[in-house]
Amino acid sequence: MAVLSTATVRFGDAVYRHRLQEAAREAADRSVDALLVTPSQDYAYLLGYHAPNLERLTCLILPARGIPTLVLPRLEEPLARHAMGSLADELQLVPWDETEDPFRSVPALLEADTRRVGVQDQMWARFVLRLRAALDPIELVEAGPTLSALRRVKSPEEVDRLRGAARSADIAMAAITAERLSGRTEREVGARILDLLLSAGHESAGFAIVASGPNSASPHHEAGDRQIAPGDALVLDMGGVRDSYCSDTTRTAFVGEPPPEFLRLYEVLQEAQAAACAAVAPGVAARDVDAAARQIIADAGYGDAFIHRTGHGIGMDTHEEPYIVESNDEPLRPGHAFSVEPGIYLAGRWGARIEDIVVCTDDGAEVLNRSSRDLYLVE
Ligand code: ZN
Ligand code: ZN
Ligand code: ZN
Repeated sequence: MAVLSTATVRFGDAVYRHRLQEAAREAADRSVDALLVTPSQDYAYLLGYHAPNLERLTCLILPARGIPTLVLPRLEEPLARHAMGSLADELQLVPWDETEDPFRSVPALLEADTRRVGVQDQMWARFVLRLRAALDPIELVEAGPTLSALRRVKSPEEVDRLRGAARSADIAMAAITAERLSGRTEREVGARILDLLLSAGHESAGFAIVASGPNSASPHHEAGDRQIAPGDALVLDMGGVRDSYCSDTTRTAFVGEPPPEFLRLYEVLQEAQAAACAAVAPGVAARDVDAAARQIIADAGYGDAFIHRTGHGIGMDTHEEPYIVESNDEPLRPGHAFSVEPGIYLAGRWGARIEDIVVCTDDGAEVLNRSSRDLYLVE
């Protein structure tokens, strides 16, 4: 699930100064002469605040060499200066008035020899099209690879934020699995989880997947009107944003006495999830973490029932690089943070998933979620 946070809890100015320098260096390495970054998580990552994403153009122009420029509506300038503090003094701010066309001023703000610019991945099509017309014949490419090269490696301060978010999600998970769930609808339990995420310290509650009975065989099931009843498997997947960083965790419960067949399935899943977590270390390819889980599930005869990748990176976005998938041979590095969430889904019957956030460290891995990975027996 995707979560967009609006609040930003800033690090010190030095962090953003460093990020701006690193992004410029990374762009230069990739022969990208400038990055154009409109309001987004990338923008917040670089400048430390969320600007409103409106029909009026706000755009950070970050040249590979030179001083960053921030083009913004004049009415947004006070907010930007207030949010950025002394960092604002290191940027060239170019406010535009309501009657001006901001797209006409962008070309003049680029270095004369600019040939390629990277545009932020989620930039609105109407901005991309107008920029393309204004910048012709400059080539527009995706800024994503440049920015994700930075964002995928978390600093110790960012890992601290992820740790805090995971702890908050663990508290919410412990609370919901201690409640009576039978007789309530998925939607009611979903709403309750969102409340619990907030009271456990998230600034925004992102999502709650409550998949009961046969619905538990659908990995991204949307909580609906189905009433939870004895004999149901129950997949609970939840996450939110705390201090601008995301949480995302899944546990599986069973209402009443689980049949031996489900217990066997769950045992296989638990072993697979633990094996994937144990496989995490610097230099290990992302695909090998996926394989560690997949092999155990396949050997037990459930290979066709594990219908998604093992995990996704997490940070300011719930889903970001690096992806833990068979096609990704990139070696893990200290600071990579991602989910490990194998699942087994038998259509029409039931499903199960276990999800933890894991950080690659210098000598192995730290599993941020601490709640029990055993099957939760609930009423
Ligand atoms: Zn998902
Ligand atoms: Zn999840
Ligand atoms: Zn996830």
